[in-house]
Amino acid sequence: MAGNWKMYKTPADTRHFFAKFNSLVAAAQHCEILICPPALDLTTAVEATLGTNVMIGAQNLHPGKEGAFTGEISGYMIKTAGCSHVIIGHSERRQYFHESEAEVVLKKTVAALEVSLTPVVCVGEVLAEREDGKTAEVLVRQFREALGSLTEEQFGKVVVAYEPVWAIGTGKTATPQIASEAHAVIRKEAGVLFGQAAAKSLRILYGGSVKPDNAKTLMAEEEINGVLVGGASLDPESFAKIVNY
Ligand code: PEP
Repeated sequence: MAGNWKMYKTPADTRHFFAKFNSLVAAAQHCEILICPPALDLTTAVEATLGTNVMIGAQNLHPGKEGAFTGEISGYMIKTAGCSHVIIGHSERRQYFHESEAEVVLKKTVAALEVSLTPVVCVGEVLAEREDGKTAEVLVRQFREALGSLTEEQFGKVVVAYEPVWAIGTGKTATPQIASEAHAVIRKEAGVLFGQAAAKSLRILYGGSVKPDNAKTLMAEEEINGVLVGGASLDPESFAKIVNY
């Protein structure tokens, strides 16, 4: 159960969040819990969750280790800050920061794996692609471009998030059936490229307007292994309800 805070919360807000959130999810045994705050809040979040069942991840990384890349942070820095995960290829990065799969998402995924960060790699179609009946084609293309050249061992460490772009931050959630069908497309492709065992154990999260009142029906789908939550992860009570669906 993963939360993406996007560009929200200061270090002080981060401390307040975890002061409430940690105890609300302390008994959750059924899942892994991940929060991805802005880069500036990562060390505060790591400190605030030491000794708890909450993991911290970044929202992006630069594929290099260090260098003259003003404004960037590397996987090495994220890892040494105490994080375990990193989101890669979020649709907002694809849309506003021109990250394409082949050049960027793949490079970032490999860079994350090299420093033992778990990449949460996002794929998903825009509304026009869905309306044109191209969802499966888009998902297969994005999946292949982002992950197709990994080794089986590398692939085994990746988490995929299906995030239909039309459902992100819009209040429109994919129905459990729509999400399930998309997950099945991704899992089938994982089977083609990496074998049935890898496909079966692949964790696919659904993301797109997940809220406390729809988490349970989404999670009831066998194909849906978790959720990636934006807006509803900003409030400790609301995200705790999703975690404890
Ligand atoms: C997201 O940012 O990945 C997301 C799914 O956002 P929201 O839950 O707000 O739609």
